[in-house]
Amino acid sequence: MSKRLYIHTVGCQMNVLDSELVAAELVEAGYELVDTPGRADTILFNTCSVRQHAEDKIYSALGRLKHLKEYRPETIIGVLGCMAQKDQAAIFRRAAHVDLVVGPGQLSRLPALLEEVASQRASLRQPRLEVSLYGIARSQEERKAGVPLLGTSSVFRGAAFPHDTACSRAPRAAWSWHMGDGFAAYDPPRRAVLRPSPGAAMVRAMFGCNQGCTYCIVPRVRGPEQSRPAAQIAAEVRGLVDQGCLEVTLLGQAVNRYDDRSEGRRLRLADLLERLHPIDGLRRLRFVTNHPRHVTAELLQAVRDLPKVSPYLHVPAQSGSDRILRRMRRGHTAQAYREMLQQVRQIVPAAAVTSDFIVGFCGETEADFQETVDLVRWGRFKNSFIFKYSPRPLTPAVELYADDVPEAVKRQRNNDLLAIQNAISLEENQPLLGRRVEILVEGPSKAARRRQADRRQAVQLAGRTACDRIVVFDGPPHLAGKMVDVVIERADAFTLFGRKDEG
Ligand code: SAM
Ligand code: SF4
Repeated sequence: MSKRLYIHTVGCQMNVLDSELVAAELVEAGYELVDTPGRADTILFNTCSVRQHAEDKIYSALGRLKHLKEYRPETIIGVLGCMAQKDQAAIFRRAAHVDLVVGPGQLSRLPALLEEVASQRASLRQPRLEVSLYGIARSQEERKAGVPLLGTSSVFRGAAFPHDTACSRAPRAAWSWHMGDGFAAYDPPRRAVLRPSPGAAMVRAMFGCNQGCTYCIVPRVRGPEQSRPAAQIAAEVRGLVDQGCLEVTLLGQAVNRYDDRSEGRRLRLADLLERLHPIDGLRRLRFVTNHPRHVTAELLQAVRDLPKVSPYLHVPAQSGSDRILRRMRRGHTAQAYREMLQQVRQIVPAAAVTSDFIVGFCGETEADFQETVDLVRWGRFKNSFIFKYSPRPLTPAVELYADDVPEAVKRQRNNDLLAIQNAISLEENQPLLGRRVEILVEGPSKAARRRQADRRQAVQLAGRTACDRIVVFDGPPHLAGKMVDVVIERADAFTLFGRKDEG
C-alpha cells in the first residue's frame, strides 16, 4: 500500500523540530512526503496552543478536510502537538473526521498508532487519543469538580475522558485513548527530511518548562523541564555535522536553565557550549530561548570566549511594568531586566539581543504600556516579537484575572510598539551598510520561492548572519547550506540586501 504523508506545522521552533523528527521517522518506515494534503493518504497537523489564533487556523484547516475524508475515508487525519495535549478528546467533538490525537510527549508512539489506525477498515475505524497526564495541574474548575490528579499510565477505552469537563457531558464515546506516564523524550535518528535549511539544524537541549508564567500554556502541554544528557546532545551534533550541518541551534523553553546531572556533576548551558564547541566541522552554535533571570556571567563569558558561539541572545522581557510582570509571575522586575541587558552589553558588546512582548495583558493600563515602550526604547533590541494577549484556558491567568483590555486597545498598542521597534531595528541595521558579513545560506528567499525560479539560474537567496540578521542576495541555488561573504548595500527594518563578495 502506498503511504503518502503531508505534515502541516504551526508554532515555534520546537514544533518545527518535532515535525522534522516525525517526518524522518515515518520516511524511514516507508512513507513518501508530499507537498499538498490532496496528494496524501496520511495528513498530520503539528499544532500550537500559545495563542487562540493558531488554534483557530488548525480547526479551519481540519474543517476543510471534511469533504476529502467523506470521499476518501481511508485517509488518516492526525492532530499532533500542543493543541492535541490541551484539547485532547474535545478535538474529536469539533472535528469528528479526525482519526488520531497525539500529544508532544507521545510522538514516539506515532508510527505504531498510524499502523493500528490503518489496519482497521475505514468504516470501523476507532479514533485514538494519546496524551500525557503526568504533571498536569488541574484548573480551579477541575479541582472543584473533584477531578483527580492522575499520575500513572492508564488505558481507557470508550468512556468519557476524565478531565475534559466539556466532554464528560458528551455521550459515551467510541474512541480509545492512552495516557502516558509523562512527556517522554523523543529522539529518533536525524535525517535531513523536512529540515528547512540544509546547513542548519535544531537540537533539543531541554523538554518542557517549569517557569509557570501565568499567561502561558506551554508548561501545561509540554510538561516539566527535563535536560537531555550532554553526551547525547554531543553525539547528535556530531551526527548532524557529518550530514553537512554547519550550524546547530540548541532549543529549550528556558534553555539557559539547562541542568544535566547525568555525569555526576552539574553541567549548565555554558558547560554544554564548551563541550560542543570543539566538534570538527561545526561552524556556528546558537541557543534559544533565554529566561532573563538565568542569564549568568558564566554563560555570557562562554558566548564571548567561544568563537563558534553566535553573539545572539533571545531574552523575552514580556513587559516593562513591574505590576504587570508580577501578574505574569515572570520572576523579574523591569530594573532586573535592564541590569541583565547591561551585563550582556558589558561582557559581549557585539551581541544582538531580541525580545518578546505581550501587550494588553490583564489589567494593563496606558501607564503600564508606556513603561513597556520605555523599555523597548532603552533596550534597542535587534527586533522584538510583539503579541496581543490571548487568554488561554487552563492557564493561571484566566483564573486569576479578567481579560479586561479591549481588543481595539490591544491592537493599537501592538501597532504602536511594533512601529517603535521597527524604527529601532532600521537604525540598528544602518552601521552594517557597506560592511562584509558572513552568512549561512538557507536557500531561495521567500520572494524567490513564490516566483518558483528556474533552479539553474541565479535566484534571490536568503541566509543569516551569526547575529541572526536576515540577508538576501542573488546567487546560484547550489549555495544553499554554505557559508558565503556578502557586502551589504541596503537595509530595511527586517532585512539586509547585498551582493556576494567575490574577493
Ligand atoms: N519559552 C519561551 C519564552 O519564555 O520566551 C517561548 C514561549 S512562547 C512559545 C513564545 C512567546 O509567546 C512568549 O515569549 C510570549 O511572548 C508569547 N505568549 C505566550 N503565551 C501567550 C499568550 N497567552 N498570549 C499572547 N502571547 C503569548
Ligand atoms: Fe511559557 Fe514562561 Fe515557560 Fe516561556 S518561560 S514557555 S513564557 S511559562
